[in-house]
Amino acid sequence: MGNKTVLVSGGAGFIGSHVTVELAQAGYDVVMADNFSNCDETNYRGVCAILGRDLPLVRMDFCDEARVKALFAEFHIDAVIHFAAFKAVGESVREPLKYYRNNLLSFMNILENVRKIGGNVLFSSSATVYGEPDRLPVTEESPLQPATSPYGNTKQMCEDILRDSVKAYSGLRGIALRYFNPIGAHPSALIGELPRGVPNNLVPFITQTAIGKRACLSIFGNDYPTPDGTCLRDYIDIVDLAKAHVCAVTRMLEGRMDNAYEIFNIGTGRPVSVMELVNAFEKVNGVEINWQFAPRRAGDVTAVWADPSLACGKLGWKAERSIEETLAAAWAWEKKLANLA
Ligand code: UDP
Repeated sequence: MGNKTVLVSGGAGFIGSHVTVELAQAGYDVVMADNFSNCDETNYRGVCAILGRDLPLVRMDFCDEARVKALFAEFHIDAVIHFAAFKAVGESVREPLKYYRNNLLSFMNILENVRKIGGNVLFSSSATVYGEPDRLPVTEESPLQPATSPYGNTKQMCEDILRDSVKAYSGLRGIALRYFNPIGAHPSALIGELPRGVPNNLVPFITQTAIGKRACLSIFGNDYPTPDGTCLRDYIDIVDLAKAHVCAVTRMLEGRMDNAYEIFNIGTGRPVSVMELVNAFEKVNGVEINWQFAPRRAGDVTAVWADPSLACGKLGWKAERSIEETLAAAWAWEKKLANLA
């Protein structure tokens, strides 16, 4: 029997490209598909360079129903990992219909095809579904909070769509992975995060400040009820995160699921404050960041971190890379981008 084939929608993006590398290195055949609406071909080329061979790349929009159907006719797909989605929280508040249309329609088009072949779908969800938790760390049983943005709502709605579809269509299996804060880059510095414009996320803002693209990092809020007054998050290395996908897909394909729909938190279980992260970045990379305290950012929660023990027990996965390794990789990637420019 040949290798199993995994379709990675949004494969040229930050998470999709790292997942593609880990899948291919684990022996899966991977079909990368992307509409390049929010990235260029840098990561696709990087994936091929890391693997030393070209992977099939399909340029397509998953909102195009006929195109998705044709893709499933062209390839025998054993599992889909779905990343293709818009992800800017602020933009989603200004343009909710753009987000609901894109993020829900693309996912439903995939499910329509997968359900017909009784296949496997892994959905990229987010810890944003937990909002501001009452109890920490959060387990998969922790209550969900109403989403504070249309983007966050599309994550909750896609989880619901997947759960209901798995319940209704026999043979369909689904896993939702709830990511905490993915950061870093591949140790080869051949793939990484490519934010367009001013980064919203902390680590790209730090690396761009360190390289001189941004004048000053604003640390949003130093009056939170945390040990140093800055927010606490669970920063998960992108390669560790990618490996969780390989474990989850293998669990599905080997028929080892306890239920046809499963959810796993993907985090380290280790809370790190914004201030600690900035200090660690400076120390490990030997660079100084120009930073200042600024008012709290609207919508930020004080603290959220994972209890990853379910993923550890059921997927046989755990985060392995230290925050120092991860921050060194993020800096190597930023320097590589500066050389490419
Ligand atoms: N943050 C910050 N300055 C920035 C970007 C982010 O202080 O320029 C803080 C933000 O307030 C939060 C943490 O860094 O406490 C992580 O933010 P990010 O946007 O990376 O992820 P989120 O947890 O909001 O999804």
